[in-house]
Amino acid sequence: MPLLMVFKNMEQPNPKELVEKIQQLADQFRKPMTDFLSDLIRIQSYTGQEGPAVERTLAELRAIGCDEVWMDSAGNALGRIGSGTRTILFNAHLDTNEVSDASQWPHPPLEPVIEGDTLFGLGASDCKAGVAAIVYGAAILKQLDLLDDVSVVVMGATLEEDAEGFGLRSLVERDGFKPECVLLAEATNLTLRRGHRGRCEVHVRTQGKAVHASTPHLGENAILKMAPVIEKIQNMNGCLPSHPVFGEGSQVVTLINGPHTPNSVPDWCEIAIDRRLVPGETMESIVDGIRAVVEPLGAKANIPVQPVLSHTGLRLDGPSFYPGWLMEENDAVIDIGKATYRALWQKEPVVDVWKFSTDGTYSAGVAKIPTLGFGPQEEPYVHTAQDQVNLNKLVEAAMFYALYPVIYQQITGANLNH
Ligand SMILES: [Zn+2]
Repeated sequence: MPLLMVFKNMEQPNPKELVEKIQQLADQFRKPMTDFLSDLIRIQSYTGQEGPAVERTLAELRAIGCDEVWMDSAGNALGRIGSGTRTILFNAHLDTNEVSDASQWPHPPLEPVIEGDTLFGLGASDCKAGVAAIVYGAAILKQLDLLDDVSVVVMGATLEEDAEGFGLRSLVERDGFKPECVLLAEATNLTLRRGHRGRCEVHVRTQGKAVHASTPHLGENAILKMAPVIEKIQNMNGCLPSHPVFGEGSQVVTLINGPHTPNSVPDWCEIAIDRRLVPGETMESIVDGIRAVVEPLGAKANIPVQPVLSHTGLRLDGPSFYPGWLMEENDAVIDIGKATYRALWQKEPVVDVWKFSTDGTYSAGVAKIPTLGFGPQEEPYVHTAQDQVNLNKLVEAAMFYALYPVIYQQITGANLNH
């Protein structure tokens, strides 16, 4: 949709003035946004231990003037701008993956260091820069005061690294919060994302008979029974469901386990399979496909339960299944993303899909809430010792989050009137 049409009926400043105003505010907020991000980096927040980072985010949401600030039962930080009944949810997560070897990092992981326009620190690229940018996108929106029947809720999400979508599921299903659209601020390097593959964990187990290792012929070795099973599972690659955008799914054996008794013939053996899926695959379709291959060899397959405990003490255990999703390229939420991008930077955005999984697995994959991705962080730094974000991109992302709801309101409001 041409930009001028978007703004045709606005009683607000003309688009050029509005973009200039947003740019001005975003520049003003560069310092507090950077300070907030630096504070978040100083606070260690591994999955399930996000309490202090959530508290810090709630304080920032109060400071920017949110009309309502709260923590939901799963311990997500939430702040609302506006009083409209239709809600756009800005989502970025506060938990980070764990540092394996701090000596590999250019600076201590929890020490934010700025060099030129780059800020280094654990979680900068995944996903604390996203949190800082959505909070300040909302801060700009608060100053603009252009929201009418749409309100924006900012979510500093929890539990994403271990069980993406579980924190968001709790907000929607347990606390009854129903957004109309979800904007994910994960790493996209200022391009748009419209989906990603899904993933699923499958456990396969063989049963044997334990005897002393000195008389193996009297027992039944579960590891030996597993060997042909592993080969069959590996050979399924190449015949898994395929998708025009994502290509073919994949699966790989990632763990093997058994009794820890080196002088006994093992009576059980269990492997874990990491399966990457395309949209449309279900728990049933995955487990049935694997059973068809392993059951003739005497093995059993199931999808394990992922144990999830929120920092508020809520148990959110659920199947280790994270469906894939893909929005149509011309879906309204993607079109509005393109219009926002064009209005800000006078060029066409790149629209792509993510390689990794996000909270979108729940919003789009399960709840079917229109979802798109846009973030300042860059994918190559995610989960690496080079974890960093470019501060100019942080400011640009905040501009995007400020303008998106204004255009969303304009376009979807117009659609509703037709
Ligand atoms: Zn992430």
